[in-house]
Amino acid sequence: MELKERVAELSDLLRRYQKAYYVDSRPLVSDLEYDKLFDELVRIENEHPELKSPDSPTARVGSDLTSDFPEVEHTIPVLSLDKAYSAQEILSWIVRAEKRMGEDLSFVIEEKIDGCSMVLYYEDGRLARGVTRGNGVVGNDVTGNIKTIPSIPLKLDGSESLAVRGEVYLPKEAFERINQTMDPPYANPRNLASGSIRRIHSSETAKIPLDIFCYEGFWEAERPFDDHIQILEELKRLGFRTNPHIGYFCKTKEEARRRLQKAGLEGVPGSFSDIPAYIEMKTKGRKDLPYEIDGLVVKINEISVRELFGYTGHHPRWAIAYKFEAPQAETVVEGIDVQVGRTGRITPVARVKATEVGGSTVSNITLHNQDYVNQLELAVGDTVEISKRGDVIPAVERVIEKNEAGNPTWEMPKECPCCHTPLVVRGAHHFCPNPLCPDQIRGRVEFFLGKDQMDIESFGPETAGVLIDKGVLKDIQDIYTIDYARTLSGTPGFGEKKIVSIVKAVEESKRQPFHRVLVSLGIPEIGKKAVELLVKDGLVSMDQLLELASKHDVDRLIGIKQMGPKTVKSLFDGLNDPANRVRIEALRAAGLQMEERMERNDVPQTMAGQVWCVTGSFVHFNPRSKAMEEVEKRGGRSVGSVSRKTTYLLVGTGGGSKEAVARSLGVKIVHEDEFIAMLGMGDEKAAGDQEKAQGTLF
Ligand code: NAD
Repeated sequence: MELKERVAELSDLLRRYQKAYYVDSRPLVSDLEYDKLFDELVRIENEHPELKSPDSPTARVGSDLTSDFPEVEHTIPVLSLDKAYSAQEILSWIVRAEKRMGEDLSFVIEEKIDGCSMVLYYEDGRLARGVTRGNGVVGNDVTGNIKTIPSIPLKLDGSESLAVRGEVYLPKEAFERINQTMDPPYANPRNLASGSIRRIHSSETAKIPLDIFCYEGFWEAERPFDDHIQILEELKRLGFRTNPHIGYFCKTKEEARRRLQKAGLEGVPGSFSDIPAYIEMKTKGRKDLPYEIDGLVVKINEISVRELFGYTGHHPRWAIAYKFEAPQAETVVEGIDVQVGRTGRITPVARVKATEVGGSTVSNITLHNQDYVNQLELAVGDTVEISKRGDVIPAVERVIEKNEAGNPTWEMPKECPCCHTPLVVRGAHHFCPNPLCPDQIRGRVEFFLGKDQMDIESFGPETAGVLIDKGVLKDIQDIYTIDYARTLSGTPGFGEKKIVSIVKAVEESKRQPFHRVLVSLGIPEIGKKAVELLVKDGLVSMDQLLELASKHDVDRLIGIKQMGPKTVKSLFDGLNDPANRVRIEALRAAGLQMEERMERNDVPQTMAGQVWCVTGSFVHFNPRSKAMEEVEKRGGRSVGSVSRKTTYLLVGTGGGSKEAVARSLGVKIVHEDEFIAMLGMGDEKAAGDQEKAQGTLF
């Protein structure tokens, strides 16, 4: 192919991918693939400047403009960032800048938040407009949507006019929760945040708990700022949410510490020689942050030097992003299986040749539904690129090479692989409509028995499997009517002792509190969090909920903060489902709790003011959230990641990188024995109290 044609081809591809990524929030290719094509175009254009057209995708910022919102011109340069893909490249960049400017230079290293770029314009201290990055010159006015983000100040502590750049993002925990309700699901929090900012109705944006970190300010009136640290200090003073996780590096660590202290900023101080260790620590610790970062941004601190370095049409020359690579690997799809979920939903799962990606072995990857497979044009035998998105969930990114056998794109079977009932299509998914399908029963029963639901420990999936095969376990309520002694005696693996412990555990489970019973029904979206909201709002019995569902009293529930219409619909659909009514009445007759017992918390508040984080697994607290429940009962707060504000990190066996982060930040580390002593209970008491804790409200 002629170079000219390749340039045209690359430009077309990049434009198509930019639209899918920035505007539709549904990327067609991985970032790595996109970056490879982008870099190839940059290389050709550098070697053959005559082939570079003024509207080349490399000459400007990738556009996220959409016709759904009015366009407004930016009054500040809203550019992208130059990028490097290894820590070594970053260090060379720093050394080059130091050589040019001498030791009077200093650097701020910020987290590169993986969200949606936003410019907030304030006039006389009031938020006038929230504008997307657009093409860097013109952006979309999304003010109505932006105003729904609680951490964006509508009025400043001052009356100045300025533009503030920030990154709107969705915390990981919220993404996991909300994405379950998205059809099709979003690939990562960034796409969901960016899609939410572009909702036509602000009420839709308001349902997504978006947040922002602000990182640059441009004042209309001349302001005497010497450096970036002063700008961050002023942004913070004005009421903007700035990211405390920064690193500041200059000649000596002591000087850096003084500078941060003077500005009242948290952050890690260091000398130039501390930069490599800081980059390494941040790269390793990214998994433990409650939000996603896709790299680090190194910025020259001094404004005068920034002016000297200047800008290209695409990025400032005084900053550079170190982009973390999403772990990727190549493998072969050996087969595509279908799984039947407890709701009958059928999920295709790619069985791939076991491959190591980002530190763990991947052999199964969910393909969500037929549309997803079609988009990839995936067939059995294809060689594929796989990645760990957000470092956690493995995903098939693209087909690298089609299979030689000529297998066509995979298609969903016509009938359920388990019970052979013809499948039906609802929305983007296929379902097995047979409630007596053994796989569905297995799914429902296993969910019901699970640790976060009824927690019937001695009754594992094997026992459930045996009882399903014997035809006596057809639904969850049967757990309470089966004659275990008669059914199981004589069955290999079921001695008398085991049968007695199953009967005892089933009997004990009747004491589980109502909130667990409600969750264990497995109504979509009605998990621990939703039930917690209901109970805290005074909806404390099954009868209350059944009555609301019968009357379809949406208004009673929609007023509950964080309770969206989709959750309410799902709850009502679930409770009005005749099969669930049968289950509920049978469970009631069996003696399960249908009302929350509101117990008073008399536990002394010995952990008030403490902030706890947990990692690893434990002997007495399984799942480990039970340890944090103990902390909360004693007035402490539990958090998902370690920061300077964390008082203690509770470390069990097999803990991850949180421990290293805690050590580097000087957070005190506590092990299980010590923790039990701090709770003021002995070993036995800890176990006993856990049982009691299940009877109290959350
Ligand atoms: P970018 O998003 O990688 O980096 C620039 C942006 O970083 C800024 O605009 C800003 O919004 C953000 N940012 C976050 N924290 C920041 C901080 N502390 N300081 C300064 N900026 C901060 O660059 P881009 O030009 O928007 O996008 C290019 C990248 O997007 C590519 O490298 C590629 O990985 C990805 N992309 C992927 C596809 C795809 O199809 N997969 C398509 C287009 C772009």
